[in-house]
Amino acid sequence: MAEFSIIDQFCRDIGPKHSSTKLDIGDDAAIIRPDHGTELAISVDTMVSGVHFFEDVCPKRLAHKILAVNLSDMAAMGASPKWATLALTLPKADPEWLAAFSNGLKTSAKRFGLQLIGGDTTQGPLSLSLTVIGTLPLSKALVRSGAKVGDDVYVTNTLGDAALGLALLNGKLELSPDSSAHAIDALETPEPRNEFGQSLLDIATSCLDVSDGLIGDIEHICSQSAVSIEIDFESLPLSSAYQEYINANSLDPRSISTLNYALNGGDDYELAFTAAPEDAAKVFNRANECELSVTRVGQIIERESHKVYLCSNGARLNLESSDTKSFEHFS
Ligand code: ADP
Ligand code: MG
Repeated sequence: MAEFSIIDQFCRDIGPKHSSTKLDIGDDAAIIRPDHGTELAISVDTMVSGVHFFEDVCPKRLAHKILAVNLSDMAAMGASPKWATLALTLPKADPEWLAAFSNGLKTSAKRFGLQLIGGDTTQGPLSLSLTVIGTLPLSKALVRSGAKVGDDVYVTNTLGDAALGLALLNGKLELSPDSSAHAIDALETPEPRNEFGQSLLDIATSCLDVSDGLIGDIEHICSQSAVSIEIDFESLPLSSAYQEYINANSLDPRSISTLNYALNGGDDYELAFTAAPEDAAKVFNRANECELSVTRVGQIIERESHKVYLCSNGARLNLESSDTKSFEHFS
């Protein structure tokens, strides 16, 4: 298949046509005319075969994931996702694979209101790079720098499931069929929290999405807001699959290493955010409206020597550097 038939057959008509799109696929560049009073949030995420996914992963799921990891960045900013461009590098033009991938893109793009307006198609080792563009009311974005001493720290849903899924696929552990399916779904088809992220625009003082592990990621809030965080170890939200992993292996639920997947596992794409204590009821109400669970996991304190402290029953635990190793490329 030639490059142009790939584009024509598999990259067109993906997602809704927004009225602000003045030009989409077919010219040298797409053109967007943003509505008056809005600003654009722009982000890119790349997934490389063998690094971010197994080469034989279901193409429909892969399509969902490249959208989801980017949508999650929009959720973390409180932005409404609108447009995407996709740089696709393929080892070969396999029509069956491309059809499944394209159908996956169509389904997920429609669900999240994202229009594919351009991209690039090249031959090489399988890799996907998606740029997402969203809109925001002027100066309202949820940035990492607004956390204040005394704010509560929250996370959505549960933590560590995607890392459990990866361990399962790597044959490092075994779980019941239901728990395995839950953990592998968490890894391969994460659910970006866009509706909830947007509902936090007038509430959260800072926000990010947890992609490389909670501890490492919330350190960014500490750095950019010049504060420290105390995380309440017992409050970390775990799924029933995670509970099964603890019980089946007779792990000590109070040990940091037991919670390693939840503290440092990657690929969760849940939101971690801060809000003033007086806004707690609003936080839980908005979560209810989005049918999402939210857990208060700690609070913002004055800046101290460490950025993040893990606490159990009010006392700080001693953290070894190996306890808080989140994922980093080149390390
Ligand atoms: P150029 O040579 O100007 O870079 P291309 O020939 O690469 O343009 O692409 C032709 C058109 O198809 C452009 O509008 C481009 O945005 C679009 N396109 C190419 N690859 C993809 C893709 N994977 N997904 C969506 N649009 C694509
Ligand atoms: Mg090109």
